[in-house]
Amino acid sequence: MESSLLGQSFVGFRRTTDRGSSFKALNPATRQELEPSFFTAAEKDLDAAVSLAEEAFRSYGSLSGAARAAFLRAIASEMEASGDELIARAHLESGLPLARLQGELARTCGQLRMFASVAEEGSWASARIDRADPSRKPLPKPNVRSVLRPLGPVAIFGASNFPLAFSVAGGDTASALAAGTPVIVKAHSAHPGTSELTANAIQRALRTCRLPEGTFSMLFDGGFSIGSALVRHPGICGVAFTGSLKGGRALYDLACNRPHPIPFYGELGSCNPLFILPGAMRARGSQIASQLFQSITVGGGQFCTKPGIVFLPPQNATKEFLATLNAAVVQSSPFTMLTPGIGSAFSNAIANREQEGTVAVAARSESQTSAQSVAAQPILFDTSVATYLSHPELEKEIFGPTSLLVHYGAMKELLDAARALDGHLTVTVHAEEEDVKEFSELLSILEKKAGRLIYNGFPTGLEVCHAMVHGGPYPATTDSRSTSVGSMAIFRFARPVAYQDFPDGGLPQELQNSNPLKIWRLLDGSWTKDAA
Ligand code: NAP
Repeated sequence: MESSLLGQSFVGFRRTTDRGSSFKALNPATRQELEPSFFTAAEKDLDAAVSLAEEAFRSYGSLSGAARAAFLRAIASEMEASGDELIARAHLESGLPLARLQGELARTCGQLRMFASVAEEGSWASARIDRADPSRKPLPKPNVRSVLRPLGPVAIFGASNFPLAFSVAGGDTASALAAGTPVIVKAHSAHPGTSELTANAIQRALRTCRLPEGTFSMLFDGGFSIGSALVRHPGICGVAFTGSLKGGRALYDLACNRPHPIPFYGELGSCNPLFILPGAMRARGSQIASQLFQSITVGGGQFCTKPGIVFLPPQNATKEFLATLNAAVVQSSPFTMLTPGIGSAFSNAIANREQEGTVAVAARSESQTSAQSVAAQPILFDTSVATYLSHPELEKEIFGPTSLLVHYGAMKELLDAARALDGHLTVTVHAEEEDVKEFSELLSILEKKAGRLIYNGFPTGLEVCHAMVHGGPYPATTDSRSTSVGSMAIFRFARPVAYQDFPDGGLPQELQNSNPLKIWRLLDGSWTKDAA
Protein backbone atom coordinates (compact mmCIF):
# COMPACT_ATOMS: atom_id res chain seq x y z
CA MET A 1 0.00 0.00 0.00
CA GLU A 2 2.68 2.51 1.00
CA SER A 3 4.49 2.05 -2.31
CA SER A 4 1.73 4.02 -4.08
CA LEU A 5 2.63 7.09 -2.02
CA LEU A 6 5.16 9.53 -3.49
CA GLY A 7 5.51 11.98 -0.60
CA GLN A 8 5.59 14.98 -2.93
CA SER A 9 3.28 18.02 -2.95
CA PHE A 10 0.51 18.55 -5.52
CA VAL A 11 0.82 21.75 -7.56
CA GLY A 12 -2.26 21.43 -9.72
CA PHE A 13 -1.74 18.18 -11.65
CA ARG A 14 2.05 18.34 -11.23
CA ARG A 15 3.85 16.51 -8.42
CA THR A 16 6.86 18.38 -7.07
CA THR A 17 10.28 16.80 -7.48
CA ASP A 18 12.61 18.76 -5.16
CA ARG A 19 13.78 16.78 -2.17
CA GLY A 20 14.32 19.30 0.61
CA SER A 21 13.69 18.55 4.27
CA SER A 22 11.54 15.50 4.88
CA PHE A 23 9.46 13.86 7.58
CA LYS A 24 7.66 10.56 8.12
CA ALA A 25 4.32 9.71 9.68
CA LEU A 26 4.38 7.71 12.89
CA ASN A 27 2.06 4.93 14.00
CA PRO A 28 1.02 6.02 17.52
CA ALA A 29 -0.02 2.47 18.43
CA THR A 30 3.54 1.14 17.91
CA ARG A 31 5.68 4.33 17.81
CA GLN A 32 7.09 3.04 14.52
CA GLU A 33 7.78 5.33 11.60
CA LEU A 34 5.79 4.72 8.45
CA GLU A 35 7.14 4.82 4.90
CA PRO A 36 7.58 6.81 2.75
CA SER A 37 9.24 10.17 3.45
CA PHE A 38 7.22 13.32 2.76
CA PHE A 39 9.08 16.35 1.40
CA THR A 40 8.49 19.95 2.42
CA ALA A 41 7.32 22.01 -0.57
CA ALA A 42 9.59 24.78 -1.84
CA GLU A 43 8.50 28.45 -1.88
CA LYS A 44 8.48 28.29 -5.69
CA ASP A 45 5.94 25.44 -5.49
CA LEU A 46 3.76 27.55 -3.23
CA ASP A 47 3.96 30.44 -5.72
CA ALA A 48 3.10 28.09 -8.57
CA ALA A 49 0.12 26.63 -6.68
CA VAL A 50 -1.25 30.11 -5.94
CA SER A 51 -0.78 31.26 -9.57
CA LEU A 52 -2.64 28.19 -10.80
CA ALA A 53 -5.40 28.80 -8.24
CA GLU A 54 -5.77 32.43 -9.37
CA GLU A 55 -6.00 31.28 -12.97
CA ALA A 56 -8.50 28.54 -12.07
CA PHE A 57 -10.64 31.04 -10.16
CA ARG A 58 -11.40 32.91 -13.39
CA SER A 59 -13.45 29.97 -14.63
CA TYR A 60 -14.20 27.91 -11.49
CA GLY A 61 -15.51 30.99 -9.65
CA SER A 62 -18.24 31.51 -12.23
CA LEU A 63 -19.02 27.86 -12.90
CA SER A 64 -22.66 26.84 -12.48
CA GLY A 65 -23.80 25.35 -9.19
CA ALA A 66 -24.67 22.15 -11.07
CA ALA A 67 -21.09 21.78 -12.35
CA ARG A 68 -19.60 22.38 -8.89
CA ALA A 69 -22.08 19.84 -7.50
CA ALA A 70 -20.96 17.23 -10.04
CA PHE A 71 -17.34 17.81 -8.96
CA LEU A 72 -18.14 17.43 -5.24
CA ARG A 73 -20.10 14.23 -5.92
CA ALA A 74 -17.22 12.90 -8.02
CA ILE A 75 -14.81 13.51 -5.11
CA ALA A 76 -17.14 11.56 -2.79
CA SER A 77 -17.33 8.66 -5.26
CA GLU A 78 -13.55 8.62 -5.73
CA MET A 79 -13.03 8.57 -1.96
CA GLU A 80 -15.48 5.71 -1.58
CA ALA A 81 -13.72 3.82 -4.38
CA SER A 82 -10.40 4.16 -2.49
CA GLY A 83 -12.11 3.65 0.86
CA ASP A 84 -10.22 0.52 1.97
CA GLU A 85 -6.80 2.03 1.22
CA LEU A 86 -7.73 5.38 2.78
CA ILE A 87 -9.05 3.81 5.96
CA ALA A 88 -6.10 1.44 6.30
CA ARG A 89 -3.60 4.30 6.00
CA ALA A 90 -5.59 6.60 8.31
CA HIS A 91 -5.70 3.77 10.87
CA LEU A 92 -1.90 3.41 10.76
CA GLU A 93 -1.28 7.15 10.97
CA SER A 94 -3.82 8.04 13.67
CA GLY A 95 -4.29 4.87 15.73
CA LEU A 96 -8.05 5.48 15.42
CA PRO A 97 -10.15 2.29 15.24
CA LEU A 98 -11.17 1.05 11.77
CA ALA A 99 -14.89 1.25 12.59
CA ARG A 100 -14.54 4.88 13.64
CA LEU A 101 -12.69 5.67 10.40
CA GLN A 102 -15.35 3.91 8.30
CA GLY A 103 -17.93 6.16 9.95
CA GLU A 104 -15.72 9.19 9.35
CA LEU A 105 -15.37 8.35 5.65
CA ALA A 106 -19.16 8.07 5.35
CA ARG A 107 -19.52 11.42 7.12
CA THR A 108 -16.91 13.03 4.82
CA CYS A 109 -18.70 11.80 1.69
CA GLY A 110 -22.04 12.85 3.19
CA GLN A 111 -20.65 16.37 3.73
CA LEU A 112 -19.40 16.55 0.14
CA ARG A 113 -22.84 15.51 -1.14
CA MET A 114 -24.65 17.93 1.17
CA PHE A 115 -22.57 20.83 -0.21
CA ALA A 116 -23.19 19.51 -3.73
CA SER A 117 -26.95 19.84 -3.14
CA VAL A 118 -26.50 23.33 -1.66
CA ALA A 119 -24.44 24.50 -4.67
CA GLU A 120 -26.85 22.90 -7.14
CA GLU A 121 -30.00 24.38 -5.56
CA GLY A 122 -28.30 27.79 -5.54
CA SER A 123 -30.38 29.84 -3.08
CA TRP A 124 -27.41 29.95 -0.65
CA ALA A 125 -26.13 32.91 -2.72
CA SER A 126 -28.74 35.09 -0.91
CA ALA A 127 -29.78 37.12 -3.96
CA ARG A 128 -31.53 40.39 -3.06
CA ILE A 129 -33.28 42.69 -5.47
CA ASP A 130 -34.60 46.17 -4.71
CA ARG A 131 -36.26 47.43 -7.89
CA ALA A 132 -35.89 51.00 -9.03
CA ASP A 133 -38.53 53.65 -8.46
CA PRO A 134 -37.75 56.56 -10.80
CA SER A 135 -40.77 58.48 -9.50
CA ARG A 136 -39.73 58.44 -5.85
CA LYS A 137 -39.47 61.90 -4.28
CA PRO A 138 -37.34 63.73 -3.40
CA LEU A 139 -34.83 61.42 -5.14
CA PRO A 140 -35.43 58.52 -7.54
CA LYS A 141 -34.69 55.10 -6.03
CA PRO A 142 -31.90 53.20 -7.86
CA ASN A 143 -32.11 49.54 -8.91
CA VAL A 144 -29.86 47.72 -6.38
CA ARG A 145 -29.21 43.98 -6.47
CA SER A 146 -26.75 41.94 -4.42
CA VAL A 147 -25.50 38.38 -4.30
CA LEU A 148 -22.74 36.40 -2.59
CA ARG A 149 -19.66 35.90 -4.79
CA PRO A 150 -16.75 33.54 -4.03
CA LEU A 151 -13.74 35.05 -2.23
CA GLY A 152 -10.96 33.76 -4.48
CA PRO A 153 -8.29 31.14 -3.68
CA VAL A 154 -8.30 30.02 -0.04
CA ALA A 155 -5.89 28.12 2.20
CA ILE A 156 -7.09 25.22 4.34
CA PHE A 157 -5.47 23.63 7.41
CA GLY A 158 -7.06 20.43 8.75
CA ALA A 159 -6.79 18.91 12.24
CA SER A 160 -5.05 15.73 13.38
CA ASN A 161 -8.06 14.22 15.14
CA PHE A 162 -10.24 13.84 12.02
CA PRO A 163 -7.90 12.65 9.24
CA LEU A 164 -10.83 12.57 6.81
CA ALA A 165 -13.74 14.74 7.97
CA PHE A 166 -11.68 17.80 9.04
CA SER A 167 -8.85 17.33 6.61
CA VAL A 168 -8.00 17.44 2.87
CA ALA A 169 -11.55 16.78 1.59
CA GLY A 170 -13.30 17.68 4.85
CA GLY A 171 -16.02 20.20 5.54
CA ASP A 172 -13.77 23.24 4.94
CA THR A 173 -12.69 22.06 1.48
CA ALA A 174 -16.22 20.91 0.56
CA SER A 175 -17.79 24.23 1.54
CA ALA A 176 -15.06 26.28 -0.18
CA LEU A 177 -15.36 24.32 -3.43
CA ALA A 178 -19.17 24.60 -3.25
CA ALA A 179 -18.84 28.39 -2.91
CA GLY A 180 -16.58 28.56 -5.99
CA THR A 181 -13.17 29.13 -4.41
CA PRO A 182 -10.09 27.13 -5.47
CA VAL A 183 -8.40 25.45 -2.50
CA ILE A 184 -4.78 25.02 -1.43
CA VAL A 185 -4.48 22.57 1.46
CA LYS A 186 -1.52 22.50 3.84
CA ALA A 187 -1.43 18.76 4.62
CA HIS A 188 -1.35 17.85 8.32
CA SER A 189 1.98 16.27 9.22
CA ALA A 190 0.27 13.66 11.44
CA HIS A 191 -1.48 11.98 8.48
CA PRO A 192 0.41 12.81 5.29
CA GLY A 193 -0.26 9.47 3.59
CA THR A 194 -4.03 9.76 4.17
CA SER A 195 -3.73 13.32 2.82
CA GLU A 196 -1.93 12.15 -0.33
CA LEU A 197 -4.51 9.43 -1.01
CA THR A 198 -7.31 11.97 -0.58
CA ALA A 199 -5.57 14.49 -2.83
CA ASN A 200 -5.27 11.76 -5.49
CA ALA A 201 -9.03 11.18 -5.25
CA ILE A 202 -9.71 14.93 -5.64
CA GLN A 203 -7.43 15.11 -8.69
CA ARG A 204 -9.14 12.15 -10.33
CA ALA A 205 -12.46 13.94 -9.82
CA LEU A 206 -11.01 17.16 -11.27
CA ARG A 207 -9.90 15.30 -14.41
CA THR A 208 -13.23 13.49 -14.77
CA CYS A 209 -15.07 16.80 -14.52
CA ARG A 210 -12.55 18.53 -16.84
CA LEU A 211 -11.99 21.36 -14.38
CA PRO A 212 -8.90 23.58 -14.23
CA GLU A 213 -5.99 21.95 -12.42
CA GLY A 214 -5.44 24.96 -10.14
CA THR A 215 -8.81 24.31 -8.47
CA PHE A 216 -6.95 22.12 -5.97
CA SER A 217 -3.35 21.89 -4.76
CA MET A 218 -1.84 20.42 -1.61
CA LEU A 219 1.49 21.21 0.02
CA PHE A 220 3.51 19.19 2.52
CA ASP A 221 5.42 21.01 5.24
CA GLY A 222 7.70 19.36 7.79
CA GLY A 223 7.67 22.58 9.87
CA PHE A 224 5.62 25.76 9.81
CA SER A 225 7.38 27.71 7.05
CA ILE A 226 5.22 26.77 4.05
CA GLY A 227 1.97 26.96 6.07
CA SER A 228 2.91 30.43 7.31
CA ALA A 229 3.98 31.59 3.83
CA LEU A 230 0.68 30.31 2.43
CA VAL A 231 -1.31 32.48 4.85
CA ARG A 232 0.87 35.50 4.01
CA HIS A 233 0.74 34.97 0.24
CA PRO A 234 -0.88 37.96 -1.51
CA GLY A 235 -2.86 35.66 -3.83
CA ILE A 236 -4.67 33.97 -0.91
CA CYS A 237 -8.06 35.55 -0.11
CA GLY A 238 -9.11 33.65 3.02
CA VAL A 239 -8.11 30.85 5.40
CA ALA A 240 -9.99 28.06 7.18
CA PHE A 241 -8.18 26.34 10.02
CA THR A 242 -9.15 23.54 12.40
CA GLY A 243 -6.73 22.76 15.18
CA SER A 244 -5.18 24.07 18.36
CA LEU A 245 -5.61 27.51 19.89
CA LYS A 246 -1.85 28.05 19.76
CA GLY A 247 -1.45 27.18 16.07
CA GLY A 248 -4.69 28.88 15.05
CA ARG A 249 -3.83 32.07 16.90
CA ALA A 250 -0.35 32.21 15.33
CA LEU A 251 -1.80 31.91 11.82
CA TYR A 252 -4.70 34.28 12.61
CA ASP A 253 -2.18 36.94 13.66
CA LEU A 254 -0.31 36.42 10.38
CA ALA A 255 -3.55 36.82 8.40
CA CYS A 256 -4.43 40.03 10.28
CA ASN A 257 -0.94 41.51 9.96
CA ARG A 258 -0.69 41.14 6.18
CA PRO A 259 -0.59 44.43 4.25
CA HIS A 260 -4.03 43.30 3.02
CA PRO A 261 -5.61 41.38 5.94
CA ILE A 262 -7.91 38.50 4.94
CA PRO A 263 -10.74 36.62 6.66
CA PHE A 264 -9.40 33.84 8.89
CA TYR A 265 -11.84 31.23 10.15
CA GLY A 266 -10.07 29.37 12.95
CA GLU A 267 -12.03 26.60 14.67
CA LEU A 268 -9.97 26.13 17.81
CA GLY A 269 -10.34 24.23 21.05
CA SER A 270 -13.04 24.34 23.71
CA CYS A 271 -13.85 22.99 27.19
CA ASN A 272 -17.55 22.57 26.43
CA PRO A 273 -18.92 23.26 29.93
CA LEU A 274 -21.71 20.93 31.06
CA PHE A 275 -24.11 22.02 33.82
CA ILE A 276 -26.07 19.49 35.85
CA LEU A 277 -28.96 21.18 37.64
CA PRO A 278 -30.33 19.84 40.93
CA GLY A 279 -33.58 18.32 39.57
CA ALA A 280 -31.73 16.41 36.85
CA MET A 281 -29.12 15.18 39.32
CA ARG A 282 -31.86 13.90 41.65
CA ALA A 283 -33.82 12.27 38.82
CA ARG A 284 -31.00 10.51 36.93
CA GLY A 285 -27.57 11.22 38.38
CA SER A 286 -26.16 7.75 37.82
CA GLN A 287 -27.40 7.57 34.24
CA ILE A 288 -25.89 10.98 33.44
CA ALA A 289 -22.59 9.80 34.95
CA SER A 290 -22.37 6.72 32.69
CA GLN A 291 -23.11 8.76 29.56
CA LEU A 292 -20.77 11.55 30.66
CA PHE A 293 -17.92 9.05 31.03
CA GLN A 294 -18.50 7.94 27.42
CA SER A 295 -18.52 11.54 26.22
CA ILE A 296 -15.30 12.42 28.08
CA THR A 297 -13.40 9.37 26.79
CA VAL A 298 -14.78 8.71 23.30
CA GLY A 299 -11.89 8.90 20.83
CA GLY A 300 -9.55 9.11 23.83
CA GLY A 301 -11.02 12.53 24.73
CA GLN A 302 -9.49 13.91 21.53
CA PHE A 303 -12.59 15.71 20.34
CA CYS A 304 -12.91 19.48 20.31
CA THR A 305 -16.42 18.88 21.75
CA LYS A 306 -15.30 16.84 24.78
CA PRO A 307 -16.95 18.07 28.01
CA GLY A 308 -13.90 19.37 29.90
CA ILE A 309 -15.68 21.16 32.76
CA VAL A 310 -18.72 19.78 34.59
CA PHE A 311 -20.66 21.88 37.13
CA LEU A 312 -22.32 19.79 39.87
CA PRO A 313 -24.99 20.71 42.43
CA PRO A 314 -24.44 20.36 46.19
CA GLN A 315 -26.66 17.51 47.28
CA ASN A 316 -26.84 13.88 48.31
CA ALA A 317 -27.77 12.64 44.83
CA THR A 318 -24.35 13.79 43.63
CA LYS A 319 -22.85 10.93 45.63
CA GLU A 320 -24.40 8.31 43.37
CA PHE A 321 -23.32 10.29 40.30
CA LEU A 322 -19.76 10.54 41.58
CA ALA A 323 -19.61 6.86 42.54
CA THR A 324 -20.67 5.80 39.02
CA LEU A 325 -18.39 8.25 37.22
CA ASN A 326 -15.35 7.60 39.40
CA ALA A 327 -15.74 3.83 39.13
CA ALA A 328 -15.89 4.07 35.32
CA VAL A 329 -12.69 6.13 35.29
CA VAL A 330 -10.83 3.83 37.71
CA GLN A 331 -11.72 0.74 35.65
CA SER A 332 -11.05 2.29 32.25
CA SER A 333 -8.26 1.20 29.90
CA PRO A 334 -5.68 3.61 28.50
CA PHE A 335 -6.32 5.28 25.13
CA THR A 336 -3.95 5.59 22.19
CA MET A 337 -3.30 9.26 21.49
CA LEU A 338 -3.06 10.63 17.96
CA THR A 339 0.54 11.86 17.99
CA PRO A 340 3.50 11.92 20.40
CA GLY A 341 3.02 15.72 20.58
CA ILE A 342 -0.60 15.40 21.68
CA GLY A 343 0.38 12.56 24.06
CA SER A 344 3.08 14.60 25.77
CA ALA A 345 0.94 17.77 25.84
CA PHE A 346 -1.67 15.71 27.72
CA SER A 347 0.75 14.16 30.21
CA ASN A 348 2.47 17.52 30.85
CA ALA A 349 -0.86 19.28 31.43
CA ILE A 350 -1.97 16.55 33.87
CA ALA A 351 1.38 16.59 35.70
CA ASN A 352 1.22 20.40 36.02
CA ARG A 353 -2.30 20.25 37.38
CA GLU A 354 -1.27 17.65 39.95
CA GLN A 355 1.90 19.52 40.96
CA GLU A 356 0.14 22.84 41.33
CA GLY A 357 -2.37 21.15 43.65
CA THR A 358 -5.04 23.80 43.02
CA VAL A 359 -7.57 21.06 42.29
CA ALA A 360 -7.80 17.52 43.67
CA VAL A 361 -7.64 14.24 41.75
CA ALA A 362 -11.12 12.71 41.97
CA ALA A 363 -10.37 9.46 40.14
CA ARG A 364 -7.65 7.97 37.97
CA SER A 365 -7.52 4.88 35.78
CA GLU A 366 -5.71 1.99 37.48
CA SER A 367 -4.60 0.47 34.18
CA GLN A 368 -0.97 0.54 33.12
CA THR A 369 0.15 2.24 29.93
CA SER A 370 2.71 0.64 27.65
CA ALA A 371 5.81 2.57 26.61
CA GLN A 372 5.44 1.05 23.14
CA SER A 373 2.42 3.17 22.27
CA VAL A 374 1.46 6.83 22.70
CA ALA A 375 -1.07 6.26 25.48
CA ALA A 376 -3.01 8.26 28.07
CA GLN A 377 -4.88 7.20 31.19
CA PRO A 378 -8.25 8.79 31.99
CA ILE A 379 -8.21 11.07 35.03
CA LEU A 380 -10.77 13.33 36.73
CA PHE A 381 -10.16 16.39 38.88
CA ASP A 382 -12.51 18.20 41.19
CA THR A 383 -12.79 21.58 42.87
CA SER A 384 -15.18 24.27 44.11
CA VAL A 385 -16.58 27.25 42.19
CA ALA A 386 -14.57 29.61 44.43
CA THR A 387 -11.28 27.93 43.43
CA TYR A 388 -12.37 27.71 39.82
CA LEU A 389 -13.14 31.42 39.67
CA SER A 390 -9.82 32.43 41.18
CA HIS A 391 -7.81 30.28 38.71
CA PRO A 392 -8.79 31.22 35.15
CA GLU A 393 -6.15 28.81 33.79
CA LEU A 394 -8.50 25.95 34.78
CA GLU A 395 -10.65 26.87 31.79
CA LYS A 396 -7.88 25.96 29.33
CA GLU A 397 -8.61 22.91 27.22
CA ILE A 398 -6.70 19.71 28.05
CA PHE A 399 -6.97 17.60 24.89
CA GLY A 400 -7.39 13.99 26.03
CA PRO A 401 -9.39 11.78 28.47
CA THR A 402 -9.85 14.15 31.40
CA SER A 403 -12.41 16.53 32.84
CA LEU A 404 -12.74 18.93 35.78
CA LEU A 405 -15.72 18.61 38.13
CA VAL A 406 -16.69 21.93 39.74
CA HIS A 407 -19.06 21.85 42.73
CA TYR A 408 -21.37 24.84 43.06
CA GLY A 409 -23.26 25.89 46.16
CA ALA A 410 -25.99 28.54 45.99
CA MET A 411 -27.48 29.59 42.65
CA LYS A 412 -25.48 32.85 42.73
CA GLU A 413 -22.27 30.85 42.60
CA LEU A 414 -23.47 28.97 39.56
CA LEU A 415 -24.46 32.19 37.80
CA ASP A 416 -21.09 33.78 38.65
CA ALA A 417 -19.30 30.77 37.16
CA ALA A 418 -21.45 30.94 34.02
CA ARG A 419 -20.85 34.69 33.60
CA ALA A 420 -17.09 34.17 33.92
CA LEU A 421 -16.97 31.58 31.14
CA ASP A 422 -14.95 32.32 28.02
CA GLY A 423 -16.24 31.41 24.55
CA HIS A 424 -16.86 27.70 23.85
CA LEU A 425 -18.05 25.56 20.96
CA THR A 426 -20.85 24.08 23.07
CA VAL A 427 -22.55 24.40 26.44
CA THR A 428 -24.74 21.59 27.78
CA VAL A 429 -27.44 21.74 30.44
CA HIS A 430 -28.99 18.74 32.15
CA ALA A 431 -32.26 19.84 33.67
CA GLU A 432 -35.79 18.82 34.60
CA GLU A 433 -38.79 21.06 34.06
CA GLU A 434 -38.54 22.50 37.57
CA ASP A 435 -34.88 23.43 36.92
CA VAL A 436 -35.68 25.30 33.71
CA LYS A 437 -38.00 27.71 35.57
CA GLU A 438 -35.65 28.20 38.49
CA PHE A 439 -32.51 28.62 36.36
CA SER A 440 -33.88 30.70 33.48
CA GLU A 441 -31.19 33.34 34.08
CA LEU A 442 -28.49 30.70 33.61
CA LEU A 443 -29.85 29.81 30.18
CA SER A 444 -29.82 33.43 29.02
CA ILE A 445 -26.19 33.82 30.19
CA LEU A 446 -25.12 30.64 28.40
CA GLU A 447 -26.51 31.75 25.05
CA LYS A 448 -23.72 34.34 24.90
CA LYS A 449 -21.01 31.78 25.61
CA ALA A 450 -21.26 29.13 22.89
CA GLY A 451 -22.25 28.35 19.31
CA ARG A 452 -24.38 25.32 20.27
CA LEU A 453 -26.53 24.83 23.37
CA ILE A 454 -27.46 21.24 24.20
CA TYR A 455 -30.34 20.20 26.43
CA ASN A 456 -30.15 16.85 28.25
CA GLY A 457 -27.61 15.45 25.81
CA PHE A 458 -23.85 15.42 25.28
CA PRO A 459 -21.67 17.60 23.08
CA THR A 460 -19.67 14.85 21.37
CA GLY A 461 -21.34 13.50 18.23
CA LEU A 462 -21.88 16.40 15.87
CA GLU A 463 -24.75 16.19 13.38
CA VAL A 464 -23.84 17.49 9.92
CA CYS A 465 -27.00 19.31 8.81
CA HIS A 466 -28.33 22.65 7.62
CA ALA A 467 -29.03 24.16 11.05
CA MET A 468 -25.80 23.06 12.77
CA VAL A 469 -23.49 25.64 14.33
CA HIS A 470 -19.98 24.48 15.14
CA GLY A 471 -18.49 27.76 16.23
CA GLY A 472 -18.65 30.14 19.16
CA PRO A 473 -17.04 33.24 20.65
CA TYR A 474 -13.24 33.43 20.90
CA PRO A 475 -11.26 31.37 21.86
CA ALA A 476 -13.55 28.64 20.49
CA THR A 477 -13.18 30.30 17.08
CA THR A 478 -11.63 33.44 15.62
CA ASP A 479 -14.97 34.54 14.12
CA SER A 480 -18.09 33.85 16.18
CA ARG A 481 -20.37 34.67 13.23
CA SER A 482 -19.41 31.48 11.42
CA THR A 483 -19.67 27.71 11.59
CA SER A 484 -17.28 25.09 10.20
CA VAL A 485 -19.86 22.28 10.21
CA GLY A 486 -23.23 22.27 8.45
CA SER A 487 -24.27 23.98 5.24
CA MET A 488 -23.92 27.51 6.67
CA ALA A 489 -20.13 26.88 6.49
CA ILE A 490 -20.32 27.93 2.82
CA PHE A 491 -20.87 31.58 3.80
CA ARG A 492 -17.25 31.81 5.04
CA PHE A 493 -16.00 31.63 1.47
CA ALA A 494 -18.16 34.30 -0.14
CA ARG A 495 -18.65 38.04 0.13
CA PRO A 496 -21.64 40.19 -0.82
CA VAL A 497 -21.40 42.32 -3.97
CA ALA A 498 -24.07 44.87 -4.94
CA TYR A 499 -24.82 45.89 -8.54
CA GLN A 500 -26.48 49.27 -8.95
CA ASP A 501 -28.48 50.12 -12.10
CA PHE A 502 -26.87 47.34 -14.17
CA PRO A 503 -28.56 46.17 -17.36
CA ASP A 504 -30.08 42.68 -17.04
CA GLY A 505 -27.53 41.05 -19.35
CA GLY A 506 -24.65 42.44 -17.28
CA LEU A 507 -25.86 40.84 -14.04
CA PRO A 508 -24.90 37.44 -12.58
CA GLN A 509 -27.61 34.89 -13.38
CA GLU A 510 -28.78 34.88 -9.76
CA LEU A 511 -29.90 38.50 -10.16
CA GLN A 512 -31.37 38.53 -13.68
CA ASN A 513 -35.01 39.51 -14.02
CA SER A 514 -36.32 36.14 -15.22
CA ASN A 515 -34.69 34.25 -12.31
CA PRO A 516 -33.19 31.66 -14.69
CA LEU A 517 -31.76 29.57 -11.82
CA LYS A 518 -35.20 29.43 -10.07
CA ILE A 519 -33.67 30.26 -6.71
CA TRP A 520 -35.21 31.97 -3.67
CA ARG A 521 -34.57 35.73 -3.79
CA LEU A 522 -35.51 38.66 -1.55
CA LEU A 523 -37.52 40.74 -4.03
CA ASP A 524 -38.44 44.18 -2.66
CA GLY A 525 -38.35 42.71 0.86
CA SER A 526 -40.25 39.41 0.27
CA TRP A 527 -38.76 35.94 -0.34
CA THR A 528 -39.95 34.54 -3.66
CA LYS A 529 -38.92 32.56 -6.73
CA ASP A 530 -40.89 34.93 -8.98
CA ALA A 531 -39.29 36.93 -11.78
CA ALA A 532 -38.37 40.51 -10.92
P1 NAP B 1 -2.52 21.93 15.45
O1 NAP B 1 -1.30 21.39 16.08
O2 NAP B 1 -2.86 23.35 15.71
O3 NAP B 1 -2.34 21.68 13.87
C1 NAP B 1 -3.24 22.14 12.89
C2 NAP B 1 -2.49 22.56 11.64
O4 NAP B 1 -1.86 23.84 11.84
C3 NAP B 1 -1.36 21.62 11.24
O5 NAP B 1 -1.29 21.60 9.83
C4 NAP B 1 -0.13 22.29 11.83
O6 NAP B 1 1.09 21.98 11.17
C5 NAP B 1 -0.46 23.74 11.62
N1 NAP B 1 0.19 24.63 12.59
C6 NAP B 1 0.14 24.53 13.94
N2 NAP B 1 0.81 25.55 14.51
C7 NAP B 1 1.30 26.32 13.50
C8 NAP B 1 2.08 27.51 13.44
N3 NAP B 1 2.49 28.13 14.54
N4 NAP B 1 2.39 28.01 12.22
C9 NAP B 1 1.99 27.38 11.08
N5 NAP B 1 1.24 26.25 11.09
C10 NAP B 1 0.91 25.72 12.27
O7 NAP B 1 -3.81 21.12 15.90
P2 NAP B 1 -4.06 19.52 15.91
O8 NAP B 1 -2.97 18.86 16.65
O9 NAP B 1 -4.31 19.08 14.57
O10 NAP B 1 -5.44 19.31 16.67
C11 NAP B 1 -5.59 19.33 18.06
C12 NAP B 1 -6.35 20.56 18.49
O11 NAP B 1 -7.35 20.91 17.53
C13 NAP B 1 -7.11 20.44 19.78
O12 NAP B 1 -6.84 21.55 20.59
C14 NAP B 1 -8.58 20.42 19.38
O13 NAP B 1 -9.48 20.90 20.32
C15 NAP B 1 -8.58 21.22 18.16
N6 NAP B 1 -9.66 20.85 17.26
C16 NAP B 1 -10.65 21.74 17.04
C17 NAP B 1 -11.70 21.40 16.24
C18 NAP B 1 -12.80 22.39 16.02
O14 NAP B 1 -13.68 22.12 15.24
N7 NAP B 1 -12.79 23.52 16.66
C19 NAP B 1 -11.74 20.17 15.61
C20 NAP B 1 -10.72 19.29 15.83
C21 NAP B 1 -9.65 19.66 16.66
P3 NAP B 1 1.80 20.55 11.39
O15 NAP B 1 1.09 19.62 10.47
O16 NAP B 1 3.22 20.79 10.98
O17 NAP B 1 1.66 20.19 12.83
